[in-house]
Amino acid sequence: MPLDLPHPPGGGAGTGSPTAVPGPVATAARLNVQMRHHEAIDVIRAAVEAVPRLALVSSFGAESGALLHLASKVKRDLPVLFIDTEMLFPETLAYQREVAVKLGLTRITTLRAADAVLHDPDGLLHLSDPDACCALRKTAPLQKALRDFDGWITGRKRFQSGQRAALPHFETEMRDGGPDRIKINPLAFWSAEDVAEYIAENNLPRHPLVARGYPSIGCAPCTSPVKEGEDSRAGRWRGTAKDECGIHFENGKVVRQGAST
Ligand code: SF4
Repeated sequence: MPLDLPHPPGGGAGTGSPTAVPGPVATAARLNVQMRHHEAIDVIRAAVEAVPRLALVSSFGAESGALLHLASKVKRDLPVLFIDTEMLFPETLAYQREVAVKLGLTRITTLRAADAVLHDPDGLLHLSDPDACCALRKTAPLQKALRDFDGWITGRKRFQSGQRAALPHFETEMRDGGPDRIKINPLAFWSAEDVAEYIAENNLPRHPLVARGYPSIGCAPCTSPVKEGEDSRAGRWRGTAKDECGIHFENGKVVRQGAST
């Protein structure tokens, strides 16, 4: 099942050679069919088998414990990328350390923007241009780190917001100068209740801000508590049209390829 990289950009089934190995797009489509009725842990196992250089990207937010626990059961030394925007709640930094110890995660890499002080010296860019701030503090460091990987696991779920409503288990994203990168969403079909139940049943650490009304947790200046009945991400960039940080965008748009389950 390995992707046998490199493949041509776009990652189709090849140029007609009988020995051509399917590229990332075809692999994502095939795995979406194969794993359609499988558990999240099986989706992670399939990803580990299919993508030789695979990472998990985690915000160590409200629901992150479930995915990290599942991944640790499949491959404890799976590389985990944690983006520290230097605008996070102190509770998130403490939670990250707690979860790492509890789950025995041995390969967490903390990503930070190398030039944040240069481009946002007073730390107020989020007020005037939040898209630029996210691009500086989140997207750029992640894109740089992902150059070393052919795929990444995310914690996104369909219930979280409209833009995620059609999320498949496997999708791909284009990247400059190389084959498409595969993206895996093992929890795509989980509900908020599924996540809470899993965290409780496995006695996983809880992000301390959840009990204070934060069902979705990003940077401190851009996250507020959520009232009963509101969307779980209503507290993110409240009062603006922004609802994604940009790490799941290409050229400013949500881009998905591969068959949706
Ligand atoms: S969430 Fe807010 S503070 Fe964090 S990177 Fe984006 S705009 Fe900046």
